[in-house]
Amino acid sequence: MNELELRRIAQTDHLTGAVTRRGFTLEMERILSRYRRWRRPAALLLLDIDEFKRVNDTYGHPTGDLVLQTVSRELVSQLRHGDILGRLGGEEFGILLQKTSVIQSVETAERLRLHLQSVPVQHDPSIRITASFGIAPLDSQTASVQHWLAAADQAMYDAKQAGRNRSHCAGV
Ligand code: GH3
Ligand code: MG
Ligand code: MG
Repeated sequence: MNELELRRIAQTDHLTGAVTRRGFTLEMERILSRYRRWRRPAALLLLDIDEFKRVNDTYGHPTGDLVLQTVSRELVSQLRHGDILGRLGGEEFGILLQKTSVIQSVETAERLRLHLQSVPVQHDPSIRITASFGIAPLDSQTASVQHWLAAADQAMYDAKQAGRNRSHCAGV
């Protein structure tokens, strides 16, 4: 195996196949510097599965893992070539949308949200899940990757506060 393959494996989450938090953050650095050089629009989506603890409590941890794998697979199936899916924490995912305007990023978050709520997890009884989304398009005020993440995190928190299963855009 060459160095590139080893790095790719090290930056892949074993359970879901998504990029690890570390790999995802590095990708955010690259996109932020490209934005500064060429003003290439991009957006970060953060999503957190709603009431996920209840899935674990009701059906057990292995079923919770199955839900995480299903969510990851379904998100990837809806994304474009060049978009990046990361697993940032337990049941929290990040998506980097490249060459994407603010309006397109809001539309994408809504499309993903509706897709997730419509897809049953293959389990008996079948499980329906929803997720809350925070959207943070890059803008000239984005000072660092940490600020960028914090903006998306705040927007996601707002979506949770507003009742879950919805998306909120930072600065709106
Ligand atoms: P909210 O709608 O506010 O997001 O509620 P929630 O229940 O999703 O949030 P909370 O943070 O209370 O629960 C997250 C749960 O995710 C708790 C933890 O046990 C579970 N979890 C974290 N990582 C994994 C994992 O790898 N596998 C499984 N099965 N569960 C996990
Ligand atoms: Mg969470
Ligand atoms: Mg949650």
